[in-house]
Amino acid sequence: MHKKLFIPGPVDVAPDVLEQMKKPMIGHRFQECFDLFESCVKNLKRLMFTKNEIIISTSSSTGLMEAAILNCVKKKCLNFSCGAFGERWHQITKNCGKEAKKVEVEPGEAITPEIVEEELSKDDYDAITLTHNETSTGVTNPIYEIAEVLKNYDNVCFLVDAVSSMGGIKLEIDKLGVDVCVFGTQKALALPPGLAICSVSEKAIKKAETIENRGWYFDFLNLLKYARKFQTPATPAISLMYALDYQLKKILDKEGLENRYERHKKLGEIAREWAKKNFELLPKEEYASNTVTCVKNTRNINLKDLKEKLAERGYAFATGYGKVKETTFRIGHMGERTLEELKEYLNTIDEILGF
Ligand SMILES: *Cc1c(COP(=O)(O)O)cnc(C)c1O
Repeated sequence: MHKKLFIPGPVDVAPDVLEQMKKPMIGHRFQECFDLFESCVKNLKRLMFTKNEIIISTSSSTGLMEAAILNCVKKKCLNFSCGAFGERWHQITKNCGKEAKKVEVEPGEAITPEIVEEELSKDDYDAITLTHNETSTGVTNPIYEIAEVLKNYDNVCFLVDAVSSMGGIKLEIDKLGVDVCVFGTQKALALPPGLAICSVSEKAIKKAETIENRGWYFDFLNLLKYARKFQTPATPAISLMYALDYQLKKILDKEGLENRYERHKKLGEIAREWAKKNFELLPKEEYASNTVTCVKNTRNINLKDLKEKLAERGYAFATGYGKVKETTFRIGHMGERTLEELKEYLNTIDEILGF
């Protein structure tokens, strides 16, 4: 039996989207593949509200997080962390041999523009990293306010992980002045895992030109040289590109972006109401995410038991992650999830726990 995924990625993929992956294979140096690539890029720019260049990478999102560091950090990077994925970018920065300063807040708290301003004013950095939507704690950082601070730091590249928000929460790349925005296919876009996407600004390209060891697979300059011809240096996951192209058209032209954000907002509200009624939210409500809700296990429920009982009823349940692994659980509500499906899921939990 397939378990409906209420985890924060990967998420369920609609059958018609999966169907796209059965298309016959084509060569990646043929016009038909260039057309597919071009169509994906055109719609990705609409999704991201950007005129910046786009890279489609056959990797998970983490690959492009690493790419952003390799290409935009010459010496020193400031890593803001409010959970496990902020921490991941810090580890990547250090492992790439760069100087990395981590600024961390407690689980459930957000990175505020005040924190960013204070830290940026202390030293010279090539870049900052920010997790827009921290999937481990269910926090959406106030990126519009943070972007205002960045506008006073012309030489600093703004690197953003939008892995669990892009396509579910509005994020306007050009308005925000984000230099590299990274996300993957398996979260709010509701596609199978395997492709990562990022936008690259002129500033990021200029920075990359000053850096010598950018690797090969994730070298922005080489990737962009090919992307301008609607190609990739190495063989891309063509089947996933078929699904991406189809799903982007569905999102943009069938549901509509604003409707999609609104649906996610309602999903978030339903999950938060339920969490507050029965438990407690980990984040302050003003920063609580509309794609994933992190709930404090204030009743000391046996989560392993709950996970098993939900599995028997056809649901995949998400435990905690990172520092709050033992004390929280999460409700993933992104992608194609409907309000009805979420309510049914929460009712099932109520039934199991006898609420
Ligand atoms: C899932 C996730 C990642 C990691 O993505 P992969 O595609 O598994 O590499 C990074 N950041 C955030 C915020 C995520 O939710």
